[in-house]
Amino acid sequence: MRLFDTLTREVVPLKPVDGKVFRFYCCGPTVYGPAHIGNFRTFVIQDVMRRVLELGGVKTKHVRNITDVDDKTIRDSVGVGMELADFTAQWRERFHADCESLNCLKPHIEPSAVEHIPEQVAMIEELVEKGHAYASDDGSVYFKIASFSEYGKLSRLDTRELDLGKTQNERANSDEYEKDNIADFVLWKSRRDEDGDNYWDSPWGEGRPGWHLECSAMILKYLGRTFDLHSGGEDLVFPHHENELAQSKCSCGGEFARHWFHSTHLLVNGKKMSKSSGTLYTLADLADEGWSPMEVRYVLIGANYRKQLNFTMESLHAAREALGRLAKAADGRTAPGYRELAKGGSLGVFSGAFERLNEDLNTAAALGELFGNLKTARSLEDWRGFFTVLAALGLTLPEPEGIEVPEEIAKLAECRWQARQDRDWAASDRYRDELAKNGWMVKDGREGYEVLPL
Ligand code: AMP
Ligand code: ZN
Repeated sequence: MRLFDTLTREVVPLKPVDGKVFRFYCCGPTVYGPAHIGNFRTFVIQDVMRRVLELGGVKTKHVRNITDVDDKTIRDSVGVGMELADFTAQWRERFHADCESLNCLKPHIEPSAVEHIPEQVAMIEELVEKGHAYASDDGSVYFKIASFSEYGKLSRLDTRELDLGKTQNERANSDEYEKDNIADFVLWKSRRDEDGDNYWDSPWGEGRPGWHLECSAMILKYLGRTFDLHSGGEDLVFPHHENELAQSKCSCGGEFARHWFHSTHLLVNGKKMSKSSGTLYTLADLADEGWSPMEVRYVLIGANYRKQLNFTMESLHAAREALGRLAKAADGRTAPGYRELAKGGSLGVFSGAFERLNEDLNTAAALGELFGNLKTARSLEDWRGFFTVLAALGLTLPEPEGIEVPEEIAKLAECRWQARQDRDWAASDRYRDELAKNGWMVKDGREGYEVLPL
């Protein structure tokens, strides 16, 4: 499989660096509210990447963290008067339920930031020791971006834009900031009143880690110094991933991520779907209006991940129609299991559709090929190919719609029913034979009858 790499700006082949298992990390959700379908555009395309690799015969190790301590989780847990752990646990559960309903595979490891404070402190100590970080008077610790000559390479920052030697403390000391506010970023935040009970001990006094650090520390623990791929939405390229790269390379060396995979934002009314802008839909909002998670998933993969996608209600209608058409084409055939499909083999007339996924995850083109070849699908191989492409996209099909019974057949069935009510068994048998001649049968129940094709 090949994918566009944010670092080199080229489409590159994805091969496990250890020759065995493709190891990748995805920045996970910040659990302070329900994830919106913009977040799920990113999580779903990461899921499709994993599925395409696995169905292509590659083993994977998927690590995705839970951000359960940062400015926002603390602010909102304090706001509602809950302990941070209880507050984040409810949103983590909700996230898991949403992922399951969207048919996303579970990551192999899902570490949480709060459970990895010692690892984060150790990484800061390493950075201080090596001259890449320094403590300020208030007990906070900053990463010195001037100490890392590659800073800005991933997000292609012009080094002239960097405000070397200034700490964010002189500006905002917040976890998130824009490109015009680049400065030494915070690794350890000294304890503040607004943090409530959420602080830990460290060599620099009480406080808590800055947001960017958790992924670096957990990646080192679960994937090592060099791993295959790192992923997130496009908003994470700067500063989050730029900072992770700096911390990790400076503390423990290694190549860090060999490739970077970023998905383009889901928009609504032409603007990024986000909590702060108040323009968001959750799966629950859409379920209230009668839309299934699978219809949402279809919309999210309906456009190539490198293109912006504007979410509309019309796209949900189109998704419903498309899934219905696929279900009708499948005509009651059952899909082989995921493991069975991952054993490989010919995909018949659908091998082109799978190739579209192999080439930079072109989900839109793969769907186009899937529909384009439905009419020519005949052999067992073809249907295996059909279900492999569906499995790669993570789509499951709805039950086929109710069968349409022609009017004359319905009439014959009604006459038969009437004959039975009149205990005219001979007439009833004649109607039954007449129905059978036309390819139909009647199943009697206590309340009435059902007309089915033979
Ligand atoms: P967060 O919970 O804010 O940490 O975000 C979780 C993931 O969703 C990150 O990879 C973000 O980059 C991604 N994300 C946030 N908003 C959007 C959006 N509108 N479209 C696609 N991905 C998004
Ligand atoms: Zn991260």
